[in-house]
Amino acid sequence: MERYPMLEFNLKKLYNNIKIVTKLCEDNGIKVAGIIKGFGGIAEGAEEMVKGGCYQIGSSRIEQLKALKDRGFDIPLLLVRIPMMCEIEDVVKYSDISLVSEKETLNLLNKEAKAQNKIYGVVLMYDLGDLREGVFYKEELIRLAEYVEYESDNLYLEGIGSNLSCYGSVAPTTENLSQLAEAATEIEEKLNRKLNIISGGGTTTLPLLVRGGVPKKINHLRIGEGINNTQDLPLYWDTNIEGLDPDVFVLKAQIVEINEKPTHPIGQLMVNAFGDLPHYEDRGIRKRAIIALGNQDLGDSSRLVPKDKNMIVLGASSDHTILDIHDCDTEYKLGDIIEFNILYQAMLMTALSDYVHKKIIKY
Ligand SMILES: *Cc1c(COP(=O)(O)O)cnc(C)c1O
Repeated sequence: MERYPMLEFNLKKLYNNIKIVTKLCEDNGIKVAGIIKGFGGIAEGAEEMVKGGCYQIGSSRIEQLKALKDRGFDIPLLLVRIPMMCEIEDVVKYSDISLVSEKETLNLLNKEAKAQNKIYGVVLMYDLGDLREGVFYKEELIRLAEYVEYESDNLYLEGIGSNLSCYGSVAPTTENLSQLAEAATEIEEKLNRKLNIISGGGTTTLPLLVRGGVPKKINHLRIGEGINNTQDLPLYWDTNIEGLDPDVFVLKAQIVEINEKPTHPIGQLMVNAFGDLPHYEDRGIRKRAIIALGNQDLGDSSRLVPKDKNMIVLGASSDHTILDIHDCDTEYKLGDIIEFNILYQAMLMTALSDYVHKKIIKY
């Protein structure tokens, strides 16, 4: 018997999406680093990314890259979270390039690369206003680039990059990405050579790419969400890319109670299991189901998109999610399996949860 909750991971659909995204990028002179952290680094997914034409495989977690190195991956592996001091040895051992924003980190990487007898690649991060990682002033970025080029024997400056819309919710635009492009041009003039990588962000740059607004100089993007959770593109960024399949990940959970109950809680209200007091709309008595899946598995039940369009996710505690099924055409019964598309956060959490069974659908 199948065990639930279950996260189904469809490799053929993943491959299809990768082909579409890498082709779109290639047509615009852009190489794609396929980012695996969103699905917990599942190696079969990384293999599809390689087959589908990704130029590198990246993750924020060195453990996920180590697993790929151990399996014999020979595509360049990119660490996308700026390295911790405590992991430098592993970073140099199990990745080929990392994003870096601190001179002291560069020194540690250089020293470790020398000890491991390697030339290690770095991409310097430039903060264009999102206020997460990156050097804030262009002059400082240029100085750091020269420092890598001329004073760090075991480092190779692969290029520069930026990150947007992660902390500060700042949208990638032609204007801010032009600043990145200009910095790259100045560095190339100073070093008298071309940079391999001018990395203009992640999935959130795709909408601008589709609209033709990414400066020509940008030649690299780091993409996970836009391949794995393609329903995020129309939902969050009003962008449709022809042919993308939203069903790479489908989450399935089993009904453990069906009942007709009032919609407004009865009694004096305090706070729910997570310390919040949500708004409860009184819609009278309605039919609802409980599934054995909760915020412990998901993070937040509002990131579930039921396949049954007449179903409403009412909310969840740690282990139970409550669904309004009153208007559904299907007559649901105890034990039935409910299917969901999942937004990025729910993919991230369910992929990492030991309580969610993973089923990889091969082709
Ligand atoms: C996670 C991450 C990405 C990829 O983000 P997606 O939204 O999955 O495309 C790119 N760059 C950095 C620095 C990241 O941490």
